[in-house]
Amino acid sequence: MEQAKERPSPKVQSLNLPEELASLYERAVALLEAKRISATPHRALLLALLLRKGYHPTAEELEEDANQYLSVGTTTVYLALKMFLTVQLVHSLVDTAGKVRYGGYLEPHVHLHCLICKTTTDVEVSTEAPLVQEPLAEGWKLQTSYPPMVILYGLCPICGSVTHLEPA
Ligand SMILES: [Zn+2]
Ligand SMILES: [Zn+2]
Repeated sequence: MEQAKERPSPKVQSLNLPEELASLYERAVALLEAKRISATPHRALLLALLLRKGYHPTAEELEEDANQYLSVGTTTVYLALKMFLTVQLVHSLVDTAGKVRYGGYLEPHVHLHCLICKTTTDVEVSTEAPLVQEPLAEGWKLQTSYPPMVILYGLCPICGSVTHLEPA
């Protein structure tokens, strides 16, 4: 039947999210409910923002970003991040400036961190191919699945095209 077509929940529409974010919001609601966490609009919005690939904001940047759509306080952001980390819906990493950043891209991935522009990108890894050659890690069972713990440092394509790494 035609009218049985799915439509976004009223909550999403009232937030006036761009299309991509609206579908991530729906996904965030489902993820939170699967973890038995009450999917308040604040939590769902914060998680939706973090689900985007390659997005690793600090708590302050996340708060600023979320406030474009909904008024979210510092404490709410802090508590939500703490909760998401506990149930492994997001991961954290420390950048070269010592700042804690958060990400919610859920595929197994490593982080590529650019030493010049300080951006961090998510790159998917195969769970079949180990990152470290076997003899080097003899006896180790390496974790290649979620959450990602590996950060590789270098120059991103843009910075790499104008700069050369100094030989060590
Ligand atoms: Zn990540
Ligand atoms: Zn760069």
